[in-house]
Amino acid sequence: MTKAICMRCGFEKFGCFVKCPNCKFTPTKNIELEISISLREGAYSDVELTLLSKDIKNKHLVDIPLEQINWYEIYGFR
Ligand SMILES: [Zn+2]
Repeated sequence: MTKAICMRCGFEKFGCFVKCPNCKFTPTKNIELEISISLREGAYSDVELTLLSKDIKNKHLVDIPLEQINWYEIYGFR
């Protein structure tokens, strides 16, 4: 399985689309799948993934209700 990080809490998980063992977030919508598949090894080096993970943790997205999160804005997708 591919090492990936959760787009909502930054927790390290294995597999882009699996449920996060930490915050229980599962990507289902198109934008969520699109971002999730980019947050994995292969797309980023180990070091970059660790930095990304820290960055996501610092955003405290888990404290924001899911429906209020603007993924496009946070991850720079258009
Ligand atoms: Zn998570």
